[in-house]
Amino acid sequence: MSENKIPYKIYLSEEEMPHSWYNLRADMKVKPAPLLDPGTGAPMTAAELEGVFCKELVQQELDNDTALFPIPQEIRDFYKMYRPSPLVRAYCLEEKLQTPAKIYYKFEGNNTSGSHKLNSAIAQAYYAKKQGLTGVTTETGAGQWGTALSMACGYLGLDCKVYMVKCSYEQKPFRREVMKVYGASVTPSPSDTTEVGKKILAQFPGTTGSLGCAISEAVETAVTHEGYRYVLGSVLNQVLLHQSVIGLEAKTALDKYGVKPDIIIGCAGGGSNLGGLIAPFMGEKLRGEADYRFIAVEPASCPSFTRGKFAYDFCDTGMVCPLAKMYTLGSSFIPNADHAGGLRFHGMSSILSQLYHDGYMEATSVKQTDVFEAAEYFARVEGILPAPESSHAILAAINEAKHCKETGEEKTILFGLTGTGYFDLVAYEKFHSGEMKSVVPTDEDIAKSLAQLPQVQG
Ligand SMILES: *Cc1c(COP(=O)(O)O)cnc(C)c1O
Repeated sequence: MSENKIPYKIYLSEEEMPHSWYNLRADMKVKPAPLLDPGTGAPMTAAELEGVFCKELVQQELDNDTALFPIPQEIRDFYKMYRPSPLVRAYCLEEKLQTPAKIYYKFEGNNTSGSHKLNSAIAQAYYAKKQGLTGVTTETGAGQWGTALSMACGYLGLDCKVYMVKCSYEQKPFRREVMKVYGASVTPSPSDTTEVGKKILAQFPGTTGSLGCAISEAVETAVTHEGYRYVLGSVLNQVLLHQSVIGLEAKTALDKYGVKPDIIIGCAGGGSNLGGLIAPFMGEKLRGEADYRFIAVEPASCPSFTRGKFAYDFCDTGMVCPLAKMYTLGSSFIPNADHAGGLRFHGMSSILSQLYHDGYMEATSVKQTDVFEAAEYFARVEGILPAPESSHAILAAINEAKHCKETGEEKTILFGLTGTGYFDLVAYEKFHSGEMKSVVPTDEDIAKSLAQLPQVQG
């Protein structure tokens, strides 16, 4: 089919939507390192993990070999309410940039939670329900994950306890209320409802919290309440598995028109949207069937890939979670309270970390003010008000397209547009008033938190 036949939006029929999730680990020669028990340094067993996580999710977490996991019918039905997400050919952006590059983006913001997180939230809530649990606990930073999980739990009739990083709780009252619409209870973290929260409050009075700290509280609440388990919206292998629906849909849509991307770009917080978007393409690369350039884009204020260390570390500030081997800035690293809310995690998915370490992926870091410039440019050209997180990918895609203009190369670029920015207007306001700064940690800042990495082999 000829190029000019490609529509602005490529949709899929219900039948063309994925029937299985794809587990990238099955095709990795070097598997991601296992989670370790922080006390003994031994790999976490399924039995141990089942005290914290839902049973079937633990199996997905530990399975490095099964390539395809059939998506249960109930989850497929839920997906049909808001998926397939559109794959958009950014004709207007190409025109505006006067680039020979062909730009596509997969837009995940078309649901009430406003981001891709719902793809994993419904899966995790489904397995919790199937296990007969009363409810789940979790943390939320910027609020997207908490909102997505509230929607999923509301749909399935599960209780949902959300620990929301205190500064977001105060700055984002609207997200908080959306969660309540779906029946979740929302507690600002750190709080005095948990032992670890009390400890952190005593140690850092007046702290506005962090994601790592909220995780500690949510885990403690899960293990001390009968019928509850903890769920997490990013970083974990199971989350990347569920998010593969993004990449599978994108690939099916592109294949329909015989389009093969050269460069695939995504923002990286804990790695779930990027891992999901690249999954089937990376699978081809790992199997030697095709080649692609993959680019992770992270904020300069929290640069895990580009300035972190590949080592075992805690996923949380309270140091109650298992250790994961990943690119990390150290679990005591607290990024500047800028606005890339969903990208402010000190670590990174073990799967993506291993792939990056083995040279299958690139990473770049970008400054906050440049990101907002790109966000506004994109909003005016393509119409969608993007989330600040997503705008990291927009900036990198624009930079690649500009590069194509200089070299005359007709590259095909695919990027993940993970969400909308309706709840981030305070950040946009700061950008407009000139108050927004790009704060970049010093080498000393990073060295200080890396010096506190746990001492384990691996
Ligand atoms: C949470 C979030 C991200 C970052 O999380 P990943 O796990 O790295 O995908 C990016 N964009 C949006 C809109 C988010 O809500």
